[in-house]
Amino acid sequence: MLRIGHTMDDFTRIGCPAGRSMSTLVEETVRVMREQLPPLLGDGYELRADQLDMAEMIARSLEHDGVSVIEAPTGIGKSLAYLVPCLLHCRRHNVRAVVATYTRTLQRQLARRDLETASRATGGGVEGVVLMGRGSYACRIAIARYLRQRRPARNLAGWLRNVADEPNSDLDSFAGGALYLDDSLRAAVSCPAREAVCRGCAERERCALVTARRRALAADVVLGNHALLFADRAVGGALLGHYDVLVVDEAHHLEDVATDFFTVSFGRRTIRGGPHSLWTADLDGAGDGVRAAGMSGGGDTGAGVAAAWHALQSAVAAGQDATDRFFRAIAGRLPDVASDRVPYAVGSPLFYDAGADVNAAGDALRTIATAAGALGEAAPAPGEGVPDYAGTFQVLGAQALETASALEFLAAGADEDYVFFVRVGPDGPVSLSAAPSM
Ligand code: SF4
Repeated sequence: MLRIGHTMDDFTRIGCPAGRSMSTLVEETVRVMREQLPPLLGDGYELRADQLDMAEMIARSLEHDGVSVIEAPTGIGKSLAYLVPCLLHCRRHNVRAVVATYTRTLQRQLARRDLETASRATGGGVEGVVLMGRGSYACRIAIARYLRQRRPARNLAGWLRNVADEPNSDLDSFAGGALYLDDSLRAAVSCPAREAVCRGCAERERCALVTARRRALAADVVLGNHALLFADRAVGGALLGHYDVLVVDEAHHLEDVATDFFTVSFGRRTIRGGPHSLWTADLDGAGDGVRAAGMSGGGDTGAGVAAAWHALQSAVAAGQDATDRFFRAIAGRLPDVASDRVPYAVGSPLFYDAGADVNAAGDALRTIATAAGALGEAAPAPGEGVPDYAGTFQVLGAQALETASALEFLAAGADEDYVFFVRVGPDGPVSLSAAPSM
């Protein structure tokens, strides 16, 4: 059963409204679906009435700048039903489209099969590219760190070096991905979760994520995912560029993705100790470079850089100590319930006596920002073989201030538009989080 509506509240059985004649896009869509698709898809393909209905409705929406909300069972061929009218519309009006899915599986199926089929059926001339989430691309900085610190076996090391040197592939599509990639390796070598980390990166010109994003900005059709839609809004459309048509497939997951995206968290490993922590091992290398530059400046410069580096190290340690004390304290006050989420609100007894640790962590984060600013100013200018140390420390400073604000917001637990909770793992409390209450 296919259900379609023009708005979320208007689900109706599809059909051409009485008295409205078929528009040109609708006619062309029907013609392509009936005449072009079957020979391309071979004997196993049969055009279904629901698939044709859906394609017609989408064509009509595109012609009239409308919105269609469609619920359909698996197996009717939804992807081609929206790709065909979208590609026809994009080519006619020289406009761009974004298709957002929830699962990587569907994203890949669209990229490998359906987009190619729809493109051939509609006469070509429309370029489509896949843009995955950050976790799907290799980070050159993270791979270099992994090789340095973990010293993996020769085969894996060779694979990682090849991945790092290939800016035109995502991690999973790179030959050998199925053999080597597991969750832990992916977390260790993929792009850092926070966008800000990439801003000052000296490896941008050879980075797979940056390359994929540039291609997406130039493409007619971008196959992305739900999270990308929110990330794009958060950076003012810089990821996807302007687009006229949006298709959200697997849209029943969109609310959960939105909740995750807008959730604010501060965890046991936010400052140090995790792959996406504020302090990561590559900052040690940046520190070496800045201190060497400071030493070559001699006298006061060298002493100033050394003092800022010392302040930074001390603040990271103090912030982590305060965080550990805080999470140990609330672990002893969690109610004995079998849930991975324990709600709290302003004045919660969970935080009894924990104010000093929250303040200490916040102070440490602000000290990190100040010291990072001083190191950034002392850093040498980037150039051949010299990374952008100043950019790296500026990003660290901005992140530290953002983290301090998030911690204060979470500890207050007072915003009525958010639901506050402690996320609990097998070893105790993992983070304070606040999700928009929608
Ligand atoms: S731009 Fe970001 S993802 Fe790319 S190499 Fe640099 S830090 Fe890694």
